[in-house]
Amino acid sequence: MELHVLPPDVVSRIAAGEVVERPASIVKELVENALDAGALKIDIECRRGGVDLIVVADDGCGIPSSLVSLAFARHATSKIASFDDLVHVGTLGFRGEALPSIAAVADVEISTRSGDEDLGSYLYLHGGDVVQQESRPRARGTTIAVRRLFRHVPARLKFLKSEGTENSNCAQIVTQYALAHPLVAFSLLLEDRVTLRTPGSGDLRDVMAQLYGTEVARALVEASYSSDTLYVTGLVAPASLSRAGRGHQSTFVNHRWVRSPLLQRAIEEGYRGLLPDGRNAIAVLNIDMPPELVDVNVHPSKAQVKFAEEHSLFRSVKEAVATALSRTRVATDAQHVAFPSGPAEQSRWSVAESAPVEEFTPSSADERSKGSSLLPPLRILGQILTTYIAAEGPDGLYLIDQHAAHERVVYDRLVEQRRRGQTETQGLLEPVTIEFTPTESALLAGLLETLAQLGLALEPFGGHSYLLRTVPAAMDVTDVTGQVREIVRDLSQGPRSDIQDRALETVACHSAVRAGKQLTHEEMRSLVRQLEQTTQPRTCPHGRPTVLHFSQVQIEKLFSRRA
Ligand code: ADP
Ligand code: MG
Repeated sequence: MELHVLPPDVVSRIAAGEVVERPASIVKELVENALDAGALKIDIECRRGGVDLIVVADDGCGIPSSLVSLAFARHATSKIASFDDLVHVGTLGFRGEALPSIAAVADVEISTRSGDEDLGSYLYLHGGDVVQQESRPRARGTTIAVRRLFRHVPARLKFLKSEGTENSNCAQIVTQYALAHPLVAFSLLLEDRVTLRTPGSGDLRDVMAQLYGTEVARALVEASYSSDTLYVTGLVAPASLSRAGRGHQSTFVNHRWVRSPLLQRAIEEGYRGLLPDGRNAIAVLNIDMPPELVDVNVHPSKAQVKFAEEHSLFRSVKEAVATALSRTRVATDAQHVAFPSGPAEQSRWSVAESAPVEEFTPSSADERSKGSSLLPPLRILGQILTTYIAAEGPDGLYLIDQHAAHERVVYDRLVEQRRRGQTETQGLLEPVTIEFTPTESALLAGLLETLAQLGLALEPFGGHSYLLRTVPAAMDVTDVTGQVREIVRDLSQGPRSDIQDRALETVACHSAVRAGKQLTHEEMRSLVRQLEQTTQPRTCPHGRPTVLHFSQVQIEKLFSRRA
């Protein structure tokens, strides 16, 4: 057996393998360096999955020319000086391994200028060695270009996935850092296409808007929880905006992206009972904690961490999520059942789940119940199957379909509005752009005025896009684009002759409370009271029944009490 010390270039390639597994690892290291340098703007570009080219440019502090080549020496770092510092790492990098590791497996160009110098430096490294170095002007900051990755390490090259997959890994990395740093403006160019661009406004919601669209961004609720040792903050989406795939949850510890099964389970626990099977939440959370309570040094790429106080961490994250969600439910309840409320109904969110005993209101009860299609006064008993309201009337049991009933209420209100030329709308915080198909857009062109009269203000916005500015007062705005799309789709499918009337019905239908929605006692009372006042309380605008009646005689027959 022969025993020998490996030559330095082999050692550095082995070490490089730990840090640079694939193009995304390089993007990660370079973005971390830019963040550590205090950059407020970071532009990233990848070509051919990052194998041909990766460029990361920042406006951070730059590297003084006397230190540039040192930055490429193994274990050269400006960030820690002793083992003790290692325990308190506040920066993302600290091993001094990234630049030399990258330079060991690719050609690297760096152009940088620190704020203290007038002229910047340019270095070209090949095979880890500096082969060209000169002074060059540059704005403050650093640009690093990595070319021909793994050209001399064919085994690694073979190990890479398709360009598309490598690109999407890079995008994933940039996305996570953009979420962790809303103050930093990120842009990502993949094969010359802008894939991501965040404004650097400091508002996490703005970053989420770039990733998930404005609707999701608007529906997000703030989560926060603090204990004596940690502070959880972030945004979580209501369960109704769940996603099929995983990967819409991002967790950060001290603004460092971490993939932690513990944190993932804590988030799931917070959503417990709210998500249907196979659906996953959208959530972004950062946990600030003293650096000594988290060990980031367990994995070469620092993606995994070990926590000192797992239990309290788990509880805090779960609590942050659950508390935030309990607030969304109140908020969406308020939106869902947007019954116009008189002063008497102001307190309808004070939970009144158990039905208070209520006498029949004597108001014209007799004439009404004699009348054909009108409703008798009803005493609400409760909700059945989260879809029907059970009520007792002077003659037996009434089951009211909550959706059909509310549809009738909204429909009558819309008809009345149209007659009086008044429109009850709710404005959106900011207009939403909706892209329609050419067919839908052609149909819409002739329908804009009709829809506007119903409170749905769409404005042509070039091509087949429309700008949505207001929606009917009663409409649930949690998925406003989805609602409007469905309305337009419904309309484009039926006959054109009666389209004006169908618009009214469709808008009413999409504004009405859904089946499956839990209602409080007050909401049921309010709905039934409004139903009583409509022109045809027993049928919905489509002609289906809103109310089923089981008379005393019928009930007795069903129980074989009478023949
Ligand atoms: P680490 O980040 O672990 O310190 P790196 O190999 O990633 O090690 O970087 C080495 C050093 O080069 C850093 O400590 C830092 O001083 C300097 N450096 C690297 N990238 C940048 C950058 N974008 N802006 C300013 N300084 C940088
Ligand atoms: Mg680094």
